[in-house]
Amino acid sequence: MRKTKIMATVGPASQSVEVLEELMKYVNIIRLNMTHASHEFCDNIIEKVNTLNKKLNTNVSILLDLKGPDITVGPIKNNIAYLKNDDIIRIYEEQVLGDETKFSTNYINFVEEVYEGSTIKINDGLIELEVIKKESDSLVCKVKQGGNIEPNKTIHVLGMRLDMPTLTKKDQEDIKYACQKKVDFLAISFVSCGEDVLTVNDLLIKEDNEHTALIAKIEDELGVDNIEEIIQVSDGIMVARGDLGVNIPMEKLPGIQKMIIKKCHELGKPSIVATELLATMEQNIRPTRAEVSDVANAILDGADCVMLSGETTIGNNPSLTVEIMDKIITSAETDIKRDEFVSSMVNQEKPSITNNLAYSVVTVANNLKCKAIIAPTITGYTAKKISRFRPSCPILAISPDKGVVKNLNLYFGVYAFYNNEITSFEKMSKVSKEVATKNIDKGIIIMTGGYPFKEAKHTNFMHIEEI
Ligand code: PEP
Repeated sequence: MRKTKIMATVGPASQSVEVLEELMKYVNIIRLNMTHASHEFCDNIIEKVNTLNKKLNTNVSILLDLKGPDITVGPIKNNIAYLKNDDIIRIYEEQVLGDETKFSTNYINFVEEVYEGSTIKINDGLIELEVIKKESDSLVCKVKQGGNIEPNKTIHVLGMRLDMPTLTKKDQEDIKYACQKKVDFLAISFVSCGEDVLTVNDLLIKEDNEHTALIAKIEDELGVDNIEEIIQVSDGIMVARGDLGVNIPMEKLPGIQKMIIKKCHELGKPSIVATELLATMEQNIRPTRAEVSDVANAILDGADCVMLSGETTIGNNPSLTVEIMDKIITSAETDIKRDEFVSSMVNQEKPSITNNLAYSVVTVANNLKCKAIIAPTITGYTAKKISRFRPSCPILAISPDKGVVKNLNLYFGVYAFYNNEITSFEKMSKVSKEVATKNIDKGIIIMTGGYPFKEAKHTNFMHIEEI
């Protein structure tokens, strides 16, 4: 069983039942990107995923990714204008029809808030402008790196967080929609501090939503600077390398990615590495060597999940991409330095029964080459704790809560199953063996959890059997 999870974004190339069914053979989480997806599109995909989950006997979860506070280029004459290097272009506060000499944005205070000397990047950072003068109604900019500008392309101002709320009106409507649809994960764009996550959490509480887990997307310097407090209040972190690679110098990305994965690991939260992992496969039938190394290195560093976006939304080969991703991950997982994970994690927390038992369970599982660790769990706590130690065998979690089953999908090595019949130790042993027999080869299994089930606040038993 592959242990690192795959998330795939659905778009025009993958919205059909046929392609979705192919994706769901490998994918653990389906992502809906609200920058592009309408509620109607999401309704359609959620229904298809639910139907396919029943048909394939899978538990694929849904993540809804909020658009966030994007600043974009306003209308442009004929929808395109070419900016030449060293040309002068004005960005106006008032709405204008843009061309090679001028344009406006969707953010009313843009001219007021941006400083003289600022660097402005457009269209995934491909176009670069320098603000050489600030006038009352416009910013006068020099084109440092030319190219085509088009309406709705994203604008970034380097090193500056404009005074926009993290949640737009659209985001708030999308959060309500996510609650109605009971999606499993909600990803918040441009999180800058813990408070941003808590604000969304308050909205979920208002909607009586105890199920949806919150993923903070780290996309700029502020998010990186406040990473520790953000991890503490989030259910997981996404290293959103697309925007992050525009907002900070791209060469700093690898170090930041490693730092975020490590901190998530220390604080016991799952991490997702996103964007351009297999970008070549949008057009080609195989990835580059560099892309294969990128995926493998994310896994060796300790990422729980890798995410596909363009590859599965608009690419030519969505099904082949997830199949190849599965192969790369499966191979990379054989190179994980398990002993290092076990020894580094055991000292991270205050000594506790759960942490010590999780450590013992994984040590025994690795030494005895166990086929699985079976974790009956009400909240998912035991399975999450064990996942941090990166055992060599899968963790089969069994929960009476369907929400917990879906949320555990993000954790390294955890495969969760729904069962509400565990009322005694004997029943636990019977159900655990049934789940193991159905899903893994014969051999030694370790059962672990908190007993009695409804009362235990921590993991307190380990039981070994052969099946
Ligand atoms: C990213 O920036 O890498 C990302 C995943 O976010 P989005 O797709 O919303 O730009």
